[in-house]
Amino acid sequence: MYNVAQVIEEKCVAKKGCRLCIMYCPEANCLDLNVEKMVAEVNINRCKGCELCKVVCDAAKHHAIEMVAVSADGKLMDKAGEAAALGQAYQG
Ligand code: SF4
Ligand code: SF4
Repeated sequence: MYNVAQVIEEKCVAKKGCRLCIMYCPEANCLDLNVEKMVAEVNINRCKGCELCKVVCDAAKHHAIEMVAVSADGKLMDKAGEAAALGQAYQG
C-alpha cells in the first residue's frame, strides 16, 4: 500500500488561475488541469506520493489536496481503509 495525492475538487481554486501544484509536481504527466471541470487532477498511476503538491497547496491556504492510500491492486482507499469507488459504486 502507498499514498497518492487527490484533489478535493470543491476546494481547488484552479478556476481562479491557481496552478501551484501543477507547477511543483516533479513527475511528468502526473498532475494536470482538467479543463472541463477546471480543477487540478492527479493521475494516480504516475503519482509518487512525494506530497510536494499538498505542501504548496496548503502553504497557499487552499488545502485542496489530500493523500489517499492505494491498495496493492491499484484501488484508492477511503479513510476507513476500504476500497473506495473509482467512478463506480463499490460492490464489495
Ligand atoms: S495548488 Fe491546490 S488550489 Fe491550486 S490548483 Fe492545485 S489543488 Fe487546486
Ligand atoms: S504527491 Fe508528488 S508526484 Fe504525486 S501529484 Fe503530488 S507532487 Fe506530484
